[in-house]
Amino acid sequence: MKKRFTSVVSTLILASLSFNVVQAHAKSDNFSAEQLSHVIEIKKQALESDLAWDLVESLTTEVGPRMPGTPGDEAGVAWAVAKFKTMGFDKVWTEPATFPKWIRYSESASVVSPAPQALHITALGNSISTPKEGLEAQVIEFENLAELENAADNAAKGKIVFINYHMDRDRDGNGYGPAVKARSRGAVVAAQKGAVGYVMRSVSTATHRFAHTGGSHYKEGVTKIVSSAISNADADQLHRLVALGKPVTININVQAKSMGEGTSYNVIGEFTGSEFPKEHVLIGGHLDSWDLGTGALDDGAGIAITMAAAKFATLKGQPKRSIRVVLFAAEEFGLWGAKAYAKANEKTLSNIVAAAESDFGADKIWAFESNVHASSLPLVKEIAAMLKPLNVEYIANNAARNGPDLIPLRPFKVPAFALSQDGTDYFDYHHTADDTLDKVDPIKLRHNVASYAIFAYMAANAKTRIIGK
Ligand SMILES: [Zn+2]
Repeated sequence: MKKRFTSVVSTLILASLSFNVVQAHAKSDNFSAEQLSHVIEIKKQALESDLAWDLVESLTTEVGPRMPGTPGDEAGVAWAVAKFKTMGFDKVWTEPATFPKWIRYSESASVVSPAPQALHITALGNSISTPKEGLEAQVIEFENLAELENAADNAAKGKIVFINYHMDRDRDGNGYGPAVKARSRGAVVAAQKGAVGYVMRSVSTATHRFAHTGGSHYKEGVTKIVSSAISNADADQLHRLVALGKPVTININVQAKSMGEGTSYNVIGEFTGSEFPKEHVLIGGHLDSWDLGTGALDDGAGIAITMAAAKFATLKGQPKRSIRVVLFAAEEFGLWGAKAYAKANEKTLSNIVAAAESDFGADKIWAFESNVHASSLPLVKEIAAMLKPLNVEYIANNAARNGPDLIPLRPFKVPAFALSQDGTDYFDYHHTADDTLDKVDPIKLRHNVASYAIFAYMAANAKTRIIGK
């Protein structure tokens, strides 16, 4: 009897629990109760799967570095096409993108006087070569780019400019913007002040001795000088040497070459929608990487997360709207794949119902931001509510800080989203030889996949489409 009573009570408890769940689901204007139960199931399975890990392991091991225009890049494209097909995507195709090709042969540097020693250096992308024996000159130090810009016209005449700006560590990566200016334009400003060479403290938060590469640019009409970066530890050392007050002479030896126009490919995989096949969710990352590491965090993880997420988002069958994964080409050289994508798909960009790029490493997602028309906010809030149990906080509906490859899509009012990862440690490894698979945590990767899968499923299957602003 007692047993029977207990069982009746537990049945009642269970019934009231499921009643509450149904109640909660019934409140939804955008999803059926069945769809909301699918979200729970997708999350559960994504959190138990190593699909993304298997992808990033395969990419970084079997392909390795994927600098645009190199054989590694070509192998990366072939890898992506093959994986999309193996994973069962309905459509797989490539679209060409051209870019100014550049390759690195070798790089080294040393202090010549007053205390001879090696410096750990890397050429910045697009840098010219030094003479074969290197470039030897006295160093002149500046605290930041602004100080160099404000210096007298010939302030650096015949010298190697050294910018010693320290990047701030920050969860949002907010330290990157102020630091990266010196990487992008430093060599131009230095040349305008009469310098013969340029070296900067890496755009880095690391304490290790790897130098961080990254894109840099020249300006028409301004003399091209070697453009390079040294590790944080070496920048500290060089600063101490300069502070001694005696002339410090260094030698920089960079051998690199611009090779004219190169071609690579955006690789695209799509699960076709059943009701509105033209409308689609666009998620992805960039397939290329720098050459120093294996591009595990930047952006092998993003590739793996979004490919796996699309797979989980279709776990319960064909979505209403298509889910498209775009692996952009030649991002590191200046968003060339993204620009080509925007141009080639200009007429159909209005069919994008939600776009998000994963390109900030492999740490957990903590924030969700949208940039949509006010009428779509209730739907976005429902997605946010399903992300909340994963400790993903909805921040705001403003210009979402989504990935760099979505920048060329902005003029087309694409509904853009940011699923923001914790970037506290990202710039310890970014663009270094230390960006390797061991920095990726498989459990955190699962959390990313679950978040993206929920987002993609809900945006693709909602009753109404999301509208941009
Ligand atoms: Zn990246």
